[in-house]
Amino acid sequence: MKCTVFISIFSLLMITQLLLYWHVTLNNNKYLLIVLFDGFRWDYLNRTETPHFKSIINNGVYATEGLNNEFVTSTLTNHWSIVTGLHPESHGIIENEMFDEEINKTYIPLYRDKNAHNDPRYYDTGVEPIWVTNQLQRADGRTGSIMWWGAENEVKGIRPNYHMPLDLNVDYYFRIDEMIRWFTLSKPINLGLLYFSEPDHTAHLSGPDSENVTQMIKYADDLVGYLIKQLKDKDLIDTMDVIITSDHGFASVSKTRLINLDKFVDPNLYHMVHYTPVAAIIPNKGMEEEVYNKLKEHSEQNHFQVYKKSELPERLHYKHNKRVTPIIAIADITYSFISQMPEENFTQAGNHGYDNKYHDMHPFFMAFGPSFKQNVKVKTFFSVDLYPLMCHLLNIVPQPNNGSMDNVAVLLEDEQSHTGSIYSASYLIYLLIIAVIILVFTSFNYGYRKCPFNPKISTTRYYSQLPS
Ligand SMILES: [Zn+2]
Repeated sequence: MKCTVFISIFSLLMITQLLLYWHVTLNNNKYLLIVLFDGFRWDYLNRTETPHFKSIINNGVYATEGLNNEFVTSTLTNHWSIVTGLHPESHGIIENEMFDEEINKTYIPLYRDKNAHNDPRYYDTGVEPIWVTNQLQRADGRTGSIMWWGAENEVKGIRPNYHMPLDLNVDYYFRIDEMIRWFTLSKPINLGLLYFSEPDHTAHLSGPDSENVTQMIKYADDLVGYLIKQLKDKDLIDTMDVIITSDHGFASVSKTRLINLDKFVDPNLYHMVHYTPVAAIIPNKGMEEEVYNKLKEHSEQNHFQVYKKSELPERLHYKHNKRVTPIIAIADITYSFISQMPEENFTQAGNHGYDNKYHDMHPFFMAFGPSFKQNVKVKTFFSVDLYPLMCHLLNIVPQPNNGSMDNVAVLLEDEQSHTGSIYSASYLIYLLIIAVIILVFTSFNYGYRKCPFNPKISTTRYYSQLPS
């Protein structure tokens, strides 16, 4: 009897695995494309005529107040939260520049130095970005990345199958063409990540409220129109789910709203890993109290907050990581820190990175495709919720994450099966049928066969029961 139960369970487990593979393969004739426009604030669409974005809103889903993104509201940090579903304190990519004592070399982002060879340990922390999971879990899982921040790094020995490294000079239309080409190969990718550095770049130079940024919003709309046309021309439109979003919003800054930290504390007493609007400060040995107290004394009247690492508010989901520096100063929105530079050298007109409590730091979100409902609007959700949503669309099992399907299931045509794609109704029915077959089979056979896995059972006893 014990042996029969063992065989039944073993068979069930094996068949479960086969069915999982079968189910995943059969139900994945859909593709997923993530398009990210850097620094596209949640309210930018109202600035100008954007017929293609408007058409997506009418034929897809839209977050009317954008997404609640992660602190710090910087590009790299939020790129990594989108593809892992984790808060920065859990994934460890805490800023565009950061320092890890163990690695002992400051991380330099590629937009500062496109030849920077950062230590792979900055990324390979045990966390799995979605392309790694896609390529490990699915036999047909292939990923293409065009300049997605962080995708140039190997994680668990895996990179996206196709990757175009960050190069701001590559034509935007060519990027779309290349992505479409990867989706139409004989062995196509099933996941694409497509990055555009605008309107962020222009907003830093001209300010988010400038006419130049309005032109960039129009340009983004033209690009989306071109993308939709390509999807139609290549017969991808009925099989492609497309998410269009951003990493963060934007605020105007000015040299009239500068916070010169040198007025409060001697800059020789500390090293600054990142400047503004979040100053990441490592005090010299034994100087922590002095640096902190001097900054604290002047913070309230000078439009910034200062925290020891341990004091950082829990709501930021930031402090529980070894790469967060001992002191963090956060400028109020529209203010900027400077140190060891003349005020007239400050040239930025816009910036981001501020506390994610400010609505202006939030990015936009819309999506369309066969998996999404049409003309459905929600107010907002969290950018970490994108990760379980994307895993659902790819039919892969998510890694542990801080997101939730609860907030985004309403966007989906198959709203009911949102608890995890492998547990969908059809899959459970397969399992049930197989379980019944095995139970019937084993109950008929019980008592008539010797069990090859259990040498303790006396063969004599069994043979003696056989009919003569
Ligand atoms: Zn930026």
